[in-house]
Amino acid sequence: MFTFFRRCFALVICLVAISPLLKLHAAVKDQHSFANPEQISTTHLSLDVQVDFDKSQLRGFVEHQLKRYDAKATTLVLDTRALVIEKVQQQNAKGVWSDAVFTLGKAAGILGQSLSIKLAAHSEKVRIYYHTTADSSGLQWLSAAQTTEKQQPFLFSQSQAIHARSWIPLQDTPAVRVSYQARVRTPKQLLAVMSADNSKNLERDGDYHFDMPQPIPAYLIALAVGDLHFKAMSTQTGVYAEKTWLDKAANEFADTQHMMDVASGLYGQYPWGRYDLLILPASFPFGGMENPRLSFITPTVITGDKSLVSLIAHELAHSWSGNLITNSNWEDLWLNEGFTNFFENRIMSEVYGNARADMEYSLSVAELERSLPDLTKADQALKLQLQGRDPDEAFSPVAYVKGQLFLSYLEQQFGRQHFDAFVSLYFKTFAFQSMDTQSFLTFLQHNLLAKYPGKVTEKDVQQWVFQDGLPTNYPKRPSDAFSKVEQQLALFLAGNANWQTKDWTVHQWLHLLDKLPRNSTKQQLMNLDQQFAFSQSQNAEIFVAWAKLAIPLQYQALQQPLEQFLLKVGRSKFVVPLYRALVASPVWSEFGKNVYRQARPGYHPLTQAQVDKLYL
Ligand SMILES: [Zn+2]
Repeated sequence: MFTFFRRCFALVICLVAISPLLKLHAAVKDQHSFANPEQISTTHLSLDVQVDFDKSQLRGFVEHQLKRYDAKATTLVLDTRALVIEKVQQQNAKGVWSDAVFTLGKAAGILGQSLSIKLAAHSEKVRIYYHTTADSSGLQWLSAAQTTEKQQPFLFSQSQAIHARSWIPLQDTPAVRVSYQARVRTPKQLLAVMSADNSKNLERDGDYHFDMPQPIPAYLIALAVGDLHFKAMSTQTGVYAEKTWLDKAANEFADTQHMMDVASGLYGQYPWGRYDLLILPASFPFGGMENPRLSFITPTVITGDKSLVSLIAHELAHSWSGNLITNSNWEDLWLNEGFTNFFENRIMSEVYGNARADMEYSLSVAELERSLPDLTKADQALKLQLQGRDPDEAFSPVAYVKGQLFLSYLEQQFGRQHFDAFVSLYFKTFAFQSMDTQSFLTFLQHNLLAKYPGKVTEKDVQQWVFQDGLPTNYPKRPSDAFSKVEQQLALFLAGNANWQTKDWTVHQWLHLLDKLPRNSTKQQLMNLDQQFAFSQSQNAEIFVAWAKLAIPLQYQALQQPLEQFLLKVGRSKFVVPLYRALVASPVWSEFGKNVYRQARPGYHPLTQAQVDKLYL
């Protein structure tokens, strides 16, 4: 996922297969799941649901194909949250279905409720009949008015980190992988798509069938339903979107196939067949979500100049890091996101050149450095401690950027050739498996540190992974383009402004806004705005960076565009810091509250939860 902005029960034996290279005895405890996959695990799901926009409800059943690891185990335990379980059935060895006894555990906050199902001796299939509720946080139901076209309603899921359990009863831990099939019935005029093989037969009949033959963790099961259209970008890539965005998105992301070819050349063939993009309404709470075969993308990166397409490189890179090898526990999120940020930057470098990749790298480092003082020491380590917490809290720049910098450091120490070979071996060895930090470190030790001794010590690695702060030995990547920005800014601050900005890229503007002193005066901001019209910027990154500077000064020209932005966009990376700045402003706090009152119904439940906290 791209965003910056989650008791313990049974021991879950990590389903990492024993590699011939390593003796992995990974016993990973997923404290965020009630499930008992070490005894009985789901291998395949069949979903059959009706999408009811009038009730904002999914209803139907999910069938679990089971595998028993413990012959004595008689109870299947699943995760649920905010679901109504109507009936559970099981199939005996003769294929006959009968009602099964089930119990729902005590509600445990974000973890929801366990669903324990008593199994007969040889049952290998269960069916759970259920429906979702208004509190099913993994689904956002948008009225027609909340969509871009304003003609038809829209539904989309967001399952990461532990929201899949709020729309499907299942073993909601990234340590379990399932293949799935689905039948989804919708109003006839709408199209349904999933993280699966989306048929290129786009005939709308309200009855859609999907197959995902490759095993994926629950958090990658995804569904969207809306007035969607499709446009191919290449034989292997295409875009699903509402009409308004279709051509714009296909133009913006026209380099996707090139990115795929580059990525396959770097770390092994793209493993999922097709790669399509789904452009969501602006309320989508994240930048992107790496749902396999079909990344979900915010429209806020469609700018007309490809300036923010690193997001596509990021979601695409997850096809290897995250989707192919998956963090077995949310405390190991850096294995997903750090690798992905590293991989993303390699793709950007190959497709758009080093100069751009260097700027994006430096902007990421700046973001990490800004965020560290706000994080506890424990949250500054790559390996997180999430006991009793919401796993959504794992998503800070630490997992993403510090993880990236650790890998960049290893690349620098061992050389690109050796490090690339190591990463390729990692993806090949653990494809379609889960990975925890300790197992990764064992693999690292064996295949890099010990193989090329004297370059990186175990102590170095321990510091990067388990200590707070950012080690100073991460590779610096100076940028000529940024040096030019800094020179011009120095002149401006000295009162001798002579702006030469003709060929500046979006990244340079972002660097300027990043480097502008936080104690700049209102007059200085006004001068800049008159010249460069930041308050009117249609580039969301620039607008938000500017607004974060201008809100504390109650810069009047910003107020109206800010209101429009907050009413239109629900991406939490943008709106949460803006509301935070508004709440902190004695003069604009009330204005912020009024805007939020209007905007809130259009925001995703995850975004609502974050902004609600600010107004407590
Ligand atoms: Zn990501």
